[in-house]
Amino acid sequence: MKAIVVGGGIGGLAAAVSLRRVGWEVEVHERAASFGEIGAGVGVMPNAMRALEWMGLDDEARRLGTPRVSGGIRAVDGRWLVHMPDVGQEKVIAMHRADLHGVLLRALPSEILFNDAEVSGADDLDADLVVAADGINSRLRAEVLPDAPGPVYAGATAWRGVAPGPYDLPISQTLGPGGEAGILPLGDGRVCWYVAAVAPAQADLDPVELFAGWHDPLPSLVASTADVIRHDIYQLPLLPTFVKGRVALLGDAAHAMTPYLGQGACMALEDAVTLAAVGGDLTRYDALRRPRTQSVWKGSRIAGRFGIEMRSPIAVTLRNLALRMMPLSAGIRGMTRFSAWEVPTEVHSNGSNSAVS
Ligand SMILES: Cc1cc2nc3c(=O)[nH]c(=O)nc-3n(C[C@H](O)[C@H](O)[C@H](O)COP(=O)(O)OP(=O)(O)OC[C@H]3O[C@@H](n4cnc5c(N)ncnc54)[C@H](O)[C@@H]3O)c2cc1C
Repeated sequence: MKAIVVGGGIGGLAAAVSLRRVGWEVEVHERAASFGEIGAGVGVMPNAMRALEWMGLDDEARRLGTPRVSGGIRAVDGRWLVHMPDVGQEKVIAMHRADLHGVLLRALPSEILFNDAEVSGADDLDADLVVAADGINSRLRAEVLPDAPGPVYAGATAWRGVAPGPYDLPISQTLGPGGEAGILPLGDGRVCWYVAAVAPAQADLDPVELFAGWHDPLPSLVASTADVIRHDIYQLPLLPTFVKGRVALLGDAAHAMTPYLGQGACMALEDAVTLAAVGGDLTRYDALRRPRTQSVWKGSRIAGRFGIEMRSPIAVTLRNLALRMMPLSAGIRGMTRFSAWEVPTEVHSNGSNSAVS
């Protein structure tokens, strides 16, 4: 069985690794001149670590990343609203996105990777399965689901970067009125950060000014970063299906979501393993992945409403009070509620799958 994966981002490469693991012949077609990943940090959540474990890449991810537990949610003045203890929790692996991409890339032989290879449609692809991992603006999605709505602006814009440090900080998310920020410390003292603000798309804003009054060290993280990446945040309205004919949508092409739960790339890893686990059975893939990813998508929308989108001072005070009063167990449940995913039972522990053997 042969699969062509369109797109060599985290989702596409993970699909290629996973399908090869259950015996598929795979090619990856990437339109960029080389395989790579821009961006800053990614928190590899426990659910995504289980996907990497199934791919046999968890040790490599742990080696390049930094296991983190303690941290939580803070107010703009730095007070902890929810503070996670360092014991008894599954660890999040803090990584640079390029390192996660590199772990997947190195697991694939170079002869199956085609760069400068933009795909304009599925019809010309000679394969039993086409994996559309071509991102939020997926051309293949537009082709196979022409009536599905395209991405819509989520009302906020984000900046991301890696500050040189050295810093010794816990993982944290800071909720403000009309903005939020995240800190993901890497093991070598560098810190991946993002800040986001409610604003019109392409608004001319300076994050250094916008976040100047936020707690330390956020202002200096932003100010000391040489390469700051700006992204207006778009999301993809919920699709009625992730599959059509021999095409499977995967990753942001299927379910691009707001970043407020930090689960977008993690969902792409889950998609990839599931697709392989069900032996490329697209009905089963759709049945397993659509409910799961769409509930995380909705969770992220809700997190946005109670986080970044809350702007009235009274509402923000009440939200912060509610978070501080919440029993710790409820706070931890809230922060980890989407991490409980397990690899589908179709998969045998060695990665082989009866559906394809
Ligand atoms: C501000 C922000 C913060 C985020 N933070 C996190 C986080 O902390 N944790 C997390 O899990 N997720 C996070 N995400 C989400 C995460 O970035 C995405 O969900 C993830 O990268 C999607 O991967 P993908 O492979 O599906 O798509 P992409 O990374 O978009 O890859 C698509 C690839 O397809 C290629 N391509 C496109 N069209 C074609 C074509 N026609 N032919 C061939 N190739 C093509 C592109 O060049 C690209 O390489 C964040 C997103 C944003 C915006």
